[in-house]
Amino acid sequence: MIGLNTLLALSASILLLFTLYIILNGPRRAFARIVFYEVREAIKVFFMNHTKEQRVLQYVLDNATRGDPQSVIESIDKYCNEKEWAMNVGDQKGLILDNVVREANPRELLELGTYCGYSAVRIARLLQPGARLLTVEFNPAYAAVAKQMIEFAGVNNKVHILEGNTQEIIPQLKKKYEVDTLDFVFVDHWKDKYLEDTELLENPVQMAETKEKRILEFVKQNAAEGDPQSVVDQIDKYCSQKEWAMNVGDEKGLILDNVLKETDPTTVLELGTYCGYSAIRMARLLKPGARLLTVEMNSENAAVAKQMIKFAGVQDKVQLLEGSSEIIIPSLKTKYGVDQVDFVFIDHFSVSYTSDTKLLEECGLIKKGSVLLADNVLYPGAPDFLEYVRTCGFYDCTNFPSHIEYSTREDAMEKAVFKGK
Ligand code: CA
Repeated sequence: MIGLNTLLALSASILLLFTLYIILNGPRRAFARIVFYEVREAIKVFFMNHTKEQRVLQYVLDNATRGDPQSVIESIDKYCNEKEWAMNVGDQKGLILDNVVREANPRELLELGTYCGYSAVRIARLLQPGARLLTVEFNPAYAAVAKQMIEFAGVNNKVHILEGNTQEIIPQLKKKYEVDTLDFVFVDHWKDKYLEDTELLENPVQMAETKEKRILEFVKQNAAEGDPQSVVDQIDKYCSQKEWAMNVGDEKGLILDNVLKETDPTTVLELGTYCGYSAIRMARLLKPGARLLTVEMNSENAAVAKQMIKFAGVQDKVQLLEGSSEIIIPSLKTKYGVDQVDFVFIDHFSVSYTSDTKLLEECGLIKKGSVLLADNVLYPGAPDFLEYVRTCGFYDCTNFPSHIEYSTREDAMEKAVFKGK
């Protein structure tokens, strides 16, 4: 691994040392001796590299076999036993690590604290095909050494170095690095991080990959199962304190409650389930025998909503229909046995409000006295819808000024009672 430049520098240095050695025995000995030692130190630093970690790496590059992880760890052990101590897990504790890895036979592994890559190479040499180790290193200089070490050992297809802070990287593991669950975690970084990082790894709210899943996990952790009011309260709590989300929320939720109670419906249709907040909110007020059909186009939201609805214990009253409203509405009578709906909560895409309202009319799904309640008519706004229901002559309209959920921004809901055509 000695390049041309190194050879030239080496030759020049030897020549210089030789010259100095001659002068050293001449008349100006004291001065010559100082120069001799200075030059010798400079040469030492030049050839030994700048840091211990770089020297460990250089020793491996010079002495181990490329592509042979076993020879890499043996070279590191040899260097650190004989020349300079370094904080690798080492040969003795390395055997314990080997045994625990073999027993666990893991596929998805995480290491906290890569350092020079010793334990990453050690673990990687035992992994089954298809298994992978993600290793987190905070220090960029260590990460650079480890990267070369891992490549030299030939395990770079199994080991991925994630450079950065564990508290930032751990919550990104699912989404950014497509980790489902980890089979093995080797904790070997800062002792004062052990507890908080372990708690983070355990925490389903922070580990969930999307906001909607985090809301669901928060509810599962904090709400009473089978209690819809507690589910609604915990969603409000999470979304007002942690992450904003487009649930109808507690303020507009009261308007929804009141209009729903007044209507006392037997059949309710909701357009736009999202996480199931308003479905659960409405379901908790439904009389026995009444049912709610809720339409959600986004399959990931639908999956979250299904679990939320089940957790709240209202799954017998709520049927989630996955797909686009313009396709589902015309099939409600034939496919879902709906005769007519008494109450429609419109809360999906404001561009679809008017067309879906007309579709409900055309399909004969609303009758005289059926109540439409539309959310977000002020913000983001549904001007076409407002114009239609207020001017077509088929509806009695009432506007309910309010605010966007969990904020002070103005919004409103529009109630439109169908009078028939
Ligand atoms: Ca809304």
